[in-house]
Amino acid sequence: MADLVEDTPTTALAVYAHPDDADVACGGTLARWAAAGAEVHVLVCTTGDKGSSDPTVDPAALAGQRAQELIEAAGVLSVQSHQLDHPDGELFDERRLIGEIVGAVRSLRPDTVICPDPTAVFFGEHYYNHRDHRAVGFATLDAVAPAASQPHYFPEAGPAHQVGTVLLTGTIAPDVWVDVSSSLERKTRAILCHRSQLGESTEWFRNVVRQRAEEGGRQAGVRHAEGFRRLRLA
Ligand SMILES: [Zn+2]
Repeated sequence: MADLVEDTPTTALAVYAHPDDADVACGGTLARWAAAGAEVHVLVCTTGDKGSSDPTVDPAALAGQRAQELIEAAGVLSVQSHQLDHPDGELFDERRLIGEIVGAVRSLRPDTVICPDPTAVFFGEHYYNHRDHRAVGFATLDAVAPAASQPHYFPEAGPAHQVGTVLLTGTIAPDVWVDVSSSLERKTRAILCHRSQLGESTEWFRNVVRQRAEEGGRQAGVRHAEGFRRLRLA
């Protein structure tokens, strides 16, 4: 029997590399929780300034456009967005990034954190995981524990905070599911806000998002679902 996460956290923080990542990975879950009264934050660590295959695109202008798209998509999901200024493709699991995520965890004090599963590297034979996704996954895990939960790590970043649950997306082996049947439409609309990233028709994206949610739903025993690997830390 699939394990469905029914509880809504009081405060959730999703940490991702690029402006569209959270919407694609877990937008249905974030929208569902926000609609149920949770305070939901999305922290995006890069500007996304390399997210175009067009050599004539100006990276700074692209970053500006993507920042606006992020704000618009956050409005659709009813979540609060925050953005760091790391260059796209240059995220490292190192002290500066960990410290920035510790700062977010200690100030927002989420009971649930969502981030990419950094151990998921190869997806079939046509795609392997972007280095920024792996880096932000490890940095977020390192920030949640031990750093944010222990006062002698980053003492300047505020009082220690213990995160209760971490949910990992883009995982090879999901073990819990969130029913997103009621929020899939908002997830889709949020993804479509990222116009700079839409190479195909919006209909094509709608179908892909729906098909993935249906596939998750089949495993979860509901209509539409997003899957996660769950860590319970407290
Ligand atoms: Zn990404």
